[in-house]
Amino acid sequence: MRIISLCKGTHDISVCVNDKERRYIMENSTLIRKIHMDCPLCDKTHEVEERKRLATITLKGDKVSYEERFYFCAKADDTENEFESGSMSNSNLLNARNAYRVKHGLLTSDEIVAIRDSYGLSQVDLARLLGWGEATISRYESKAIQDEAYDTMLRLIKDNPLQALEFLKKNNNKFPSAKRFEVRAKIVEKLDSYGKEYLTRQAFEGEYANFEEPSDSNGFVLLNIDKIEAAISYIAENVANLFKVKLMKMLWYADALSYKVNGYAITGLVYRHNEMGALPIGHYSLMNLENLNIHEEVSINYDSMLHIYPSNDMDYSVLSDGDKNILDAVIRKFKNYKAKEIVDYMHDERAYRETNPGDIIPFSIAKEIKDFN
Ligand SMILES: [Zn+2]
Repeated sequence: MRIISLCKGTHDISVCVNDKERRYIMENSTLIRKIHMDCPLCDKTHEVEERKRLATITLKGDKVSYEERFYFCAKADDTENEFESGSMSNSNLLNARNAYRVKHGLLTSDEIVAIRDSYGLSQVDLARLLGWGEATISRYESKAIQDEAYDTMLRLIKDNPLQALEFLKKNNNKFPSAKRFEVRAKIVEKLDSYGKEYLTRQAFEGEYANFEEPSDSNGFVLLNIDKIEAAISYIAENVANLFKVKLMKMLWYADALSYKVNGYAITGLVYRHNEMGALPIGHYSLMNLENLNIHEEVSINYDSMLHIYPSNDMDYSVLSDGDKNILDAVIRKFKNYKAKEIVDYMHDERAYRETNPGDIIPFSIAKEIKDFN
């Protein structure tokens, strides 16, 4: 309990009449509730008023107004007749700091908590992610006012998980490796939770944040979403009844064949060994790309199936003649394959037999595809 001196004015204490002061308090504050409690002023249990009022405080050299709560004892007859509990005192200070933040355009403590919650991260993990001392976020949520530079960094990740991934890349070394994967998964989850309509190319790119260099994983080509959309629509123009499973295999064959023939893939997709054959990383996001013409259909077994149609107004100029030749070869080969047939065909590839479930399929093995004729 902190007992506050009643007389805030600079008047002579002798003219401070209790009744007058009481009236002043009543007139300048609002009653919240009356409660029975141990009154530290009377040393008795009796009814005390919880009240609120506008107060001012000087923080970082600036005078700010904020809402302050206090208990008022109408029975005390000396000059001390209000007091605060410890938690009240803390929340008054928090209000004062937040008033300063609002005035200076900084995130409030609640907003900082909300950003952290949106990623599902602990205070320590968010602090590490941003490259700060481990206690920094905890302090900003409860005690200190953040500097503007820190505020800017928090705003950067607020609605932008991709930026959070960037920070993770930069501050990788701050996390033990298991923790790093956990934090990464949480950020990717936030990317996903943006929902179907927001899963644009940005989110898709986010899933390829680990593949920003040409390598054996992406066929020495960086993710090229324009080409992916064009290739998918191109295949759909030439293959009737094209569904997701078959399309995924045809994309892999196109990339594998291109790598075999030219030494580089077409799309920049990275494929994993999946039960049904090669499956690109980010395939859910991929199927939500804006320029694709995909309809969800329900099979006789009530399974949801994604039917891929050609897109109107697709720009095929992003595909080189070489790319088209590769796609044409893949279309000729698999045009009439049913999904199960192309899956079985792929199961016999070295790329499938020599990798384990979940493994990335290296293009150095993918290029060993069986002859197409
Ligand atoms: Zn009292």
